[in-house]
Amino acid sequence: MADRNEKLLLGLVKKIGNNICADCRSPDPEWASYNIGIFICTRCAGIHRGLGAHISKVKHLKLDRWEDSQVEKVSSIGNLAAAARYELNVPASYRKPMENDPHTLLEQWIRAKYEREEFCHPEKQPPPYMSGFMEGFLMKRGRTDSKYKPRRFKKEPKAVLRISELSISFCPVKMCNQTSFQISYLADLNPTSTSESSKSARNSVGSGGNPATFHLSSVTTRHLYLYHEDPKIAVDWYMAIRCSRLRRMQIAFPAASEEELVRWLPKDFAREGWLWKTGPRPSDSYKKRWFTLDNRKLMYHEDPMDASPKGEIFVGEKGDSFFVKEGRAQGISPAGAGPGGVGGFPFSLGTPQRTFHLSSTSAEDRDAWIKVLQTVIDTPLNPRDNALAARLCRKRASGSMNLFNSR
Ligand SMILES: [Zn+2]
Repeated sequence: MADRNEKLLLGLVKKIGNNICADCRSPDPEWASYNIGIFICTRCAGIHRGLGAHISKVKHLKLDRWEDSQVEKVSSIGNLAAAARYELNVPASYRKPMENDPHTLLEQWIRAKYEREEFCHPEKQPPPYMSGFMEGFLMKRGRTDSKYKPRRFKKEPKAVLRISELSISFCPVKMCNQTSFQISYLADLNPTSTSESSKSARNSVGSGGNPATFHLSSVTTRHLYLYHEDPKIAVDWYMAIRCSRLRRMQIAFPAASEEELVRWLPKDFAREGWLWKTGPRPSDSYKKRWFTLDNRKLMYHEDPMDASPKGEIFVGEKGDSFFVKEGRAQGISPAGAGPGGVGGFPFSLGTPQRTFHLSSTSAEDRDAWIKVLQTVIDTPLNPRDNALAARLCRKRASGSMNLFNSR
């Protein structure tokens, strides 16, 4: 009988719908929850086990012994019918996690589906999933002292945060915290500010600095590093911000479909890591910088957890003379002289204003950066990108914004 049941199960798991994990959509599930009636991957099976057998009873398709009645149960339900029930009312802005997404997102998705049954009973959903409104305490990293302190947040932290321009990345690796997220937004700086950036800008202007290279922004990107120790509350915040963002976009782009707008919701950073960067002159030295690619904005920082980038590069589309290519342009000094072994795997990122000369410490890293930047360049600008670019260009034209500063 055991052989017969195993054969039946291995036949069932090949069916459309059952051939990908019911929760994270990774291919070829090896486990099943026989009371829920779904096929799942090893990672999700571990989370199901954590829910307790009163919620989900999991077995390995090959290694465990199956009763006839258990096989009949999964056969009578399956992943498609279970999704029709447990995912009936997933809000459009809710991020359904995929195979390699952060553990907290996946665990809360599975708990929301089967433990709290939020999506078959919408009245059980936390109101922020649909209203986008939320308030409460979050732990916020200090801009200068790097200590986390509790801060009270409403949906829009302080008045400076424009939800229509913020991006949010859940659980970036550098934060080393499973319930953290990073919010990045364009902040209008006080023009009377005596910060280092405005001082250096005045100096540059005073000494006849090239307006394309001096560092000045009355608008700059700010990073907020936040967490809540309760994984559910951290995810609720994240989903509330996504919902709020979707609502704003629906007002700004009434002609776009909801499906399209959901695709424009902020994604986790496409790539982050150390690169070496040199200036356009042969005498310029290489500096180690932490690069973050956030949608079409490539930012670089001295430290991964800086409150603001030192520079920001808007990555446009191919037809507008943007390019990325392997190798070093003529006249640019080779990497290798800097402290700690400068990366010897150069590549260039071209923009209409200037070309950025970068270097990785390995061929794999360089190739990964080129690939991810090429994908951005190959993607046509969408109306949201255009709106952002227009805002940035307006700022640049008025001399109060420099997206291509060179520090
Ligand atoms: Zn899975």
